[in-house]
Parts: sequence; structure tokens; C-alpha cells
Amino acid sequence: MSKFKRILLKLSGEALAGEKGHGIDNVILADMASEIASIVKQGVQVALVIGGGNLVRGISASAGGMNRAQGDAMGMLGTVMNGLAMQDALDKQGIDSVVMSAIRMEPVCEFFDRRRALKLLSAGSVVIFSAGTGNPFFTTDSCAALRAIESECDVIMKATKVDGIYTADPVKDPKATRFDDISYQEVISRGLKVMDTAAVALCMEHNMPIFVFKMVKGNLTKAAVEGNLGTLVHC
Ligand code: UDP
Repeated sequence: MSKFKRILLKLSGEALAGEKGHGIDNVILADMASEIASIVKQGVQVALVIGGGNLVRGISASAGGMNRAQGDAMGMLGTVMNGLAMQDALDKQGIDSVVMSAIRMEPVCEFFDRRRALKLLSAGSVVIFSAGTGNPFFTTDSCAALRAIESECDVIMKATKVDGIYTADPVKDPKATRFDDISYQEVISRGLKVMDTAAVALCMEHNMPIFVFKMVKGNLTKAAVEGNLGTLVHC
């Protein structure tokens, strides 16, 4: 029996890029789909939000002179591409999934519909929420917080490059120590880079716990099924 009935897994776009740092690495994509398939087969209902940082980030596009909102629209479209790639990889694992987008683009994927998402999740389909919130100046972390609350998930599982939340960046500061758990308020007041502040504040308001863990083979099962990995952010 898994610890969580329904999770929202947040993957960064960069995680799909692997060593190349850009685009989609098919081997990594297949590995992630296999990890997701494994927890689905253990009865965990999975909502998925994938970022778009491997393709376009509005803030980087605007640094190069592009209008920020225009760049953000491109970033949101990037998250749909990642979502479609993951759907294909899940197909290959024999796992049913539906891509929903906050921006209408049928027939490529469905338009976001909360009630339909709830039904699909209950029936065991993976629901991939793409195109972020549909608005510029937000991130896919905010989308993850929003969709986790709307789709009544038990927890947000945020997969990162490090194995939890540290007092400082462990890559730059060898004295940094890891928290087993931490409050939303402390994450915000210490300015810890877990999720953006808007996302953490939304989770705090709705009491949505966030698990931060390192995405390496086997860890998703440990985090989602056993619930004993990384750092837990709660009230
Ligand atoms: N984005 C947006 N609104 C949203 C979500 C995302 O405008 O609600 C755009 C924004 O430009 C962002 C890009 O999509 O930089 C990719 O998302 P994000 O940076 O969150 O991806 P990640 O860092 O998780 O790969």
C-alpha cells in the first residue's frame, strides 16, 4: 500500500535535457517514463507537470531583447512539447496518459478541464498538465502548486538535482546542511530556492505538502510509495 494515493510530480524541463543541457534526451525520457510507470503500477495516481527550461525560458528570451510576455508564451508552448514527448514515452510503457493544456490547442492535446482531470486520475490515467498556468510571468512551479490543489493531490513531489533542501547551495558551500523537514514560512524567509515564492505561498495557504528529492533511478518509488526521501515542506 503506497503512502500517497495521488501525487503531483514536478519535473524540470532541464532534467529531460541530460548532459546536452538543451532539448530532449530520449534515453532520459524513457527512464523517467519507466519510473512513473512503476509507481502507477503500484496504484499511485499521478498528475505530472513538466517545465520547459530545456527549450525556452521567457526570462532568458527577454534578456536577449525579446518582449517578456512573448518569450513566456514560447516557454509555455515548450512545456506542451515536453508533455507530448512524455506521453509518447508513457505509451511505450503501456501507461495511459492525457495531456491537458492551459492554452487551447486541440487536436494536439485537450484543453484543461479540472473535473475531467479528476475523473481521469481516479481511473488511473496519468494527467500531464502543460502550458503552465496559461499566463506570462508565472512558472511551472506555480502551475504545479495550482494543479496539485485543484486536482486534490496529497503532495507535490518536486524532483531536483539535489537530494533535498539545504541551508545553502551544497555545490557552492560544503558546510551546507540538509533539512529533513522545514516550514513554508522558513523556506520563504530564508529565501531558499525550492520553488518560486508564489508557488510556496499558494501551497502554504492550502496546506499542500511539498517533497523535494533527487531524481535518480528508484527514488521516485521511494518518495511516492514509501514517502521517506528528501526534504518535506509543510506547515
Ligand atoms: N511559463 C509561463 N507561465 C507559466 C509557466 C511557464 O510563462 O505559467 C513560461 C516561462 O517563460 C518559463 C517557461 O514557460 O520560463 C518554462 O517554464 P519553467 O521555467 O518553469 O520550466 P523549468 O524551469 O521547470 O524547466
